[in-house]
Amino acid sequence: MTTIKDSWKNKGYIDEPIPEGIDLATAIRQMCKEKNAVILAHYYTEGALQDVADFVGDSLALAQKAAATDADIILMCGVHFMAETDKILCPDKRVLIPDLNATCSLAESCPADEFAAFVKAHPGHKVISYVNTSAATKAVTDVVVTSSNARQIVESFPKDQPLIFGPDRNLGSYINSITGRDMLLWNGACHVHERFSVEKLVDLKKQYPTAKVLVHPECKGPIVKLADVVGSTAALLKFAIHSDCDTFLVVTESGILHEMQKQAPDKTFIPVPPDDSTCGCNECNFMRLITLAKVYNTLRYEWPEVQVDPEVAKAAIRPIERMLDISKQLGL
Ligand code: SF4
Repeated sequence: MTTIKDSWKNKGYIDEPIPEGIDLATAIRQMCKEKNAVILAHYYTEGALQDVADFVGDSLALAQKAAATDADIILMCGVHFMAETDKILCPDKRVLIPDLNATCSLAESCPADEFAAFVKAHPGHKVISYVNTSAATKAVTDVVVTSSNARQIVESFPKDQPLIFGPDRNLGSYINSITGRDMLLWNGACHVHERFSVEKLVDLKKQYPTAKVLVHPECKGPIVKLADVVGSTAALLKFAIHSDCDTFLVVTESGILHEMQKQAPDKTFIPVPPDDSTCGCNECNFMRLITLAKVYNTLRYEWPEVQVDPEVAKAAIRPIERMLDISKQLGL
């Protein structure tokens, strides 16, 4: 039986050295086989993780995969709320995340107690929460959405039904603009998507006048206005693969470029930079905490494991399952 060292607990990940000469990807795949483990990776993780994973997708696809897997262990290459969602959907499975510090600025911008007070202050409203929230925030929600299904789920409510949307003010405001709704918005945001530079995007558009601009709806309004396509990572990927255009300016976390380039090797994908950096891409520092070495050690020692309070999980599963049911009905 492995003893979890205090130094690991303090750090939130295992920092054991990797045995010399080991091929990490091969060793990881071998352990997955031996332990009946499945690796789910988000498009925003580094390319080497996407290549070693059993499945790569956006938040909706990852939740759907977790709900359907018959593996004993789910290892989430993504951030904490994604692993929590898996644990809520699969309470009997062990859910591992390679680094407990991999949180999410958007989820953290919506503390559950403050959101619950906001909901209480607006009686008669139905509550829609983006999947980028903690289990405790989901527990005070009527239905969860992702950027793949937010529009359709909002439109599934009668037009005169007052709605609260949290936590992303940019996504909420975009959905209000395309549906004609007037949802009350929680004032949260993702630090990665908020920092794209309009100026740099305009410069790139001049440099590549035929390029299509692909924008994630977590970006601010002035960026969204410059888009040819606004959509979830999965929708942007699909558009890029099937479009006649051969050059794209990509305005979302730059990890998605790995799959775009893989699926459309003859096309050119240019990451749009943030306004506060001289480097060319905009990476999520939380997603980048997950590395191949940490995945190896996590599988080896089966730690860190994600737990969700059973009472919270009982309340949070209802809005998640509602999202999955509506998505299934809509063929998403
Ligand atoms: S890119 Fe933004 S929303 Fe996505 S995990 Fe990172 S901080 Fe959260």
